[in-house]
Amino acid sequence: MLSEEVSRAIIDERLLDIINFDIDGMTRTTYESVRRNVDFETVMKNVHYFIDYRKAVKKKKPQIRVTIIKMQPTEKEIPDFTRYWSPLVDKVDVSDYNTWLGTKPDLNVGRSLEKSQKGSFDFACVHPWDELVIAADGKAGLCCLDYDLKAEVGDISRQSIKEIWQGEAINRYREAMLRGEYPSLPVCCHCNAHIYQKDRLGEAAAGLKHHFEIKIPAIYF
Ligand code: SF4
Repeated sequence: MLSEEVSRAIIDERLLDIINFDIDGMTRTTYESVRRNVDFETVMKNVHYFIDYRKAVKKKKPQIRVTIIKMQPTEKEIPDFTRYWSPLVDKVDVSDYNTWLGTKPDLNVGRSLEKSQKGSFDFACVHPWDELVIAADGKAGLCCLDYDLKAEVGDISRQSIKEIWQGEAINRYREAMLRGEYPSLPVCCHCNAHIYQKDRLGEAAAGLKHHFEIKIPAIYF
């Protein structure tokens, strides 16, 4: 899909602020075992063309990010991945693996879905404050992980986006999350994305504390 022509159009016509390439692996074997029916060499060639073209025309946008998901098949390649891409792109991200609400095998490294969920419902997931997912038929859902919109929060054929965003349905989810009531929420009870967010906020706070040598207060939700 990311042909040279499409890359040039995205950059020349300033169509995006940020572009992210999910490249799960540093080798053909790993990448193609994770991302089925895609050719590793073609992906690498296309991404390199995008990077080189943006550099050639001296543009800063879109910001270029590459992401690898930390999971059992990719874990060993993450150091090489970071070393390889860091000098080439604006941001390298190592994402956490999730099971898409329990529909995929648990390939987490060092922490199972079950273990990470036990007794840890003390953090509000940011997704319902951060994004609104709208399906092709107009239905609005809670977050991108709820891909078939089981947690429906509105419908743009009947409501404005503002009405949905400030509506009772989505606010019920937000309030339940602030109370840590994930087990009572039909989709969130199968998800551990909020646990990762908690870990990441903790890491970010620790990094800031170290960087600025200031005392950061505890954050409670
Ligand atoms: S807990 Fe999971 S399913 Fe629920 S809103 Fe957050 S990311 Fe979505």
